[in-house]
Amino acid sequence: MLISSKLPNAGTTIFTVMSALANQHHAINLSQGFPNFDCSDELKSLVEKYMRQGYNQYAPMPGVPALREIIAEKIQSLYGMAVDPETEITITAGATQALYCTISAFIRPDDEVILIEPAYDSYRPAVEVNGGIPVTYEMSAPGYRVDWRMLERLVTWKTRMIIVNTPHNPTGKILSELDWAELQRLAEDRDILVLCDEAYEHIVFDGKKHKSLLLKPKIYERGLAVFSFGKTLHTTGWKLGCVVAPPDLTREFRKVHQFNVFSVNTPMQHAVAEYLQSPQRYLELDAFFEKKRDYLLSAMQGSRFVPIASEGTYFQLFDYSNISDEKDTEFVKRMTTEHGVAAIPVSSFYSSNKDEKVIRLCFAKTEETLARAGEILRKI
Ligand code: PMP
Ligand code: GLN
Repeated sequence: MLISSKLPNAGTTIFTVMSALANQHHAINLSQGFPNFDCSDELKSLVEKYMRQGYNQYAPMPGVPALREIIAEKIQSLYGMAVDPETEITITAGATQALYCTISAFIRPDDEVILIEPAYDSYRPAVEVNGGIPVTYEMSAPGYRVDWRMLERLVTWKTRMIIVNTPHNPTGKILSELDWAELQRLAEDRDILVLCDEAYEHIVFDGKKHKSLLLKPKIYERGLAVFSFGKTLHTTGWKLGCVVAPPDLTREFRKVHQFNVFSVNTPMQHAVAEYLQSPQRYLELDAFFEKKRDYLLSAMQGSRFVPIASEGTYFQLFDYSNISDEKDTEFVKRMTTEHGVAAIPVSSFYSSNKDEKVIRLCFAKTEETLARAGEILRKI
């Protein structure tokens, strides 16, 4: 049968490719973003408790009420916004499904969606499979800032959505007040939706503050914020997240969500609802990961890799132009197979043939792992 692919350019994701290569060569895997340490025993006991109590059937379509309620409380206390758990919060199968269903719910064929590259890999195919047209704004190393006047030139009468991500994967940069003011100016007078990927909301360093979409009531009127419990609880394998949006947008989101997954695993939702009763559990993440970032930076001291400041996420970029002229995709392969440390080439977050000689290392790892990686990388 002749198949006309809806995603002719989509291959296997770079995260899968690099993790497989790392496993094959028994390399230290600092490529795909996931912790190599476990989530808390208490959280696991809570899941077991709810499983044993029989919470093993379908959850309500928008999510377990107790979880939506605690998320609303958290949003009120962190961002000062009152959101209604009944009409504004939906629990999703990770941030990926939230992003996909948001794009699916709002993007029609030929609608333009502005993507800011380097961009997380799931945005573009989600736009394309729905017939939308990705329009790319490119940020460059080492600053990775948006020049909003230049970005504005990409806006046309067909622009339906702009996707932003803060803290930003892969660069670790965070949106500033000024960025939000520019974004507001740009979106307000036009019929443009703002989708903000905040998967790393609790991982921001050096005393800086995460600037959530939920701090911006004017943008929230046309905005959807996406979160991931995988990052907050060291449980990337649970695929649990949520989307927060005003009632009119949530209504449309749920129309797609209910036919996409209907609902998300029940005992985990109950467990997370109880676990989040104690805010300390997510408030201490900034310091926890800042220590790991600093540990990696000190382990890399004396190497020829040049770090590019990371303000958040669990990623740190390094420029390797002092070491090699190779394209980053080749360089990371050689790093993995010859030296035994796997990384992600930053060009894979661009749709153009960007050649900046920058790699991404994930520092959500034990100090022992980071030390071993540093020892190898200092010698390259
Ligand atoms: N957005 C960003 C920026 C991410 O880095 C990730 C994955 N780490 C996701 C979304 C997807 O999150 P999830 O695993 O919850 O689907
Ligand atoms: N978000 C993770 C990263 O950036 C990977 C998630 C995935 O493998 N799809 O590394």
